[in-house]
Amino acid sequence: MKDERYDVVVVGGGPAGSVTAKTAAENGLDVLLIERNPEIGVPVKCGEGVSKEIERFVDIDSRWICTEPKGIITHGPDGTRVALSVEGSEVVGYVLERRLFDKFLAQQAAHAGAEVRVKTQAYDLIQEEGYAKGVYANAAGEDIRIFADIVVGADGVESRVGRWAGIDTRLRLADVGICAQFLMSTIEVDKNFFEMFFGRDIAPKGYAWVFPKGEHCANVGLGIGGDVSGDNHRALDYLRAFVNEKFPDGKILAAMYGAVPLSGPVYDTVANGLVLVGDAARHVQPITGGGILQAMEGGAIAGDVIAKAVHEMNVSKRRLMEYEKRWKREFGKVLEVGLKAKNIVLSLSDEELIKFFRPLAGEIKLKECSERALLKEFIKRNPRILFSLLRVIF
Ligand SMILES: Cc1cc2nc3c(=O)[nH]c(=O)nc-3n(C[C@H](O)[C@H](O)[C@H](O)COP(=O)(O)OP(=O)(O)OC[C@H]3O[C@@H](n4cnc5c(N)ncnc54)[C@H](O)[C@@H]3O)c2cc1C
Repeated sequence: MKDERYDVVVVGGGPAGSVTAKTAAENGLDVLLIERNPEIGVPVKCGEGVSKEIERFVDIDSRWICTEPKGIITHGPDGTRVALSVEGSEVVGYVLERRLFDKFLAQQAAHAGAEVRVKTQAYDLIQEEGYAKGVYANAAGEDIRIFADIVVGADGVESRVGRWAGIDTRLRLADVGICAQFLMSTIEVDKNFFEMFFGRDIAPKGYAWVFPKGEHCANVGLGIGGDVSGDNHRALDYLRAFVNEKFPDGKILAAMYGAVPLSGPVYDTVANGLVLVGDAARHVQPITGGGILQAMEGGAIAGDVIAKAVHEMNVSKRRLMEYEKRWKREFGKVLEVGLKAKNIVLSLSDEELIKFFRPLAGEIKLKECSERALLKEFIKRNPRILFSLLRVIF
């Protein structure tokens, strides 16, 4: 078997892996990023919506932006419509073209000096004396051993890297969002708004989304709770019903199915010689299923900590805990509150959801684009939810 040697091997070429690889390479490390698929960014398994916060992590480039929505419209189970936007702000977020966006991030990693290799799938961990020392991989049919001081598990929702190291990354069915999505054309969509639809008949334990990708074109998808999926009640069945009602004449250009981890972060995101980032670490906002921004932010933190640890020649779990401390400081609380809020929302019946949405009906202009501003406005209009939220936050 052929042997190779790097400072860091990153398993997975999504946003988490590419940003980790880029940051580690910028800090002087010899980095290999491997991706099992033949093309980075393909297949796309994503609604492709992100908030304006993405500007904190990357300069916006029109090549991978489809639309720049100015607000969000939510529809309650009885059709109550709430339009959210931000005072003085033209844009609240972006709909990406992930096929290109993911490639752009991998390209940035390559520019920083990382080697990027597709059609290369890790299938086990090399371990010695309680430390991860690299991965066994299959590179286009050939088995190789890739030795590294640090292995990064950036291998998404199906992650196996953490499990190989003995980290419990199992997900209960109830903690998985099962999703189906069509890329649709020849439909009437307002490209100025992200749209979300709630209700047990539409998407039990989840929601449906219409994220505009341009004129007459959108990602139309939904996610349902893994524990309510069953024969004739699969995400695809709900999606077909939703599309038949909303866009009966629309044309389906692409169909995809995927899963989102909604459990909140795994207990351990580091081990000796090993770090988990992005969906592999379950860094997904449980209330929305969004994970792109945490994948990028976590990746940047991981790359920085990994570089310091390798330069210090100390890749112990104890040293790598700096990564865990820093991601917890940056977005740990938001994920924790999101998880509790998700549990409250899931416990509500449609009638209770309707009571929640009704006082919010109409237009809401937030003072700023933040979850805090959104909460403040919700409480102002619907003081009854204050008690539930206080229970969530404290
Ligand atoms: C239907 C759906 C809709 C979504 N919509 C949104 C949205 O609108 N906004 C948002 O923010 N988030 C959304 N998400 C979540 C978002 O897609 C993820 O959080 C994000 O992609 C996480 O990035 P990542 O780099 O951690 O993982 P991924 O992007 O999943 O990348 C992991 C990569 O690892 C590779 N890989 C896996 N195993 C191996 C291996 N053994 N060897 C080599 N390579 C391997 C995979 O092929 C993959 O390319 C959605 C998810 C789904 C399923």
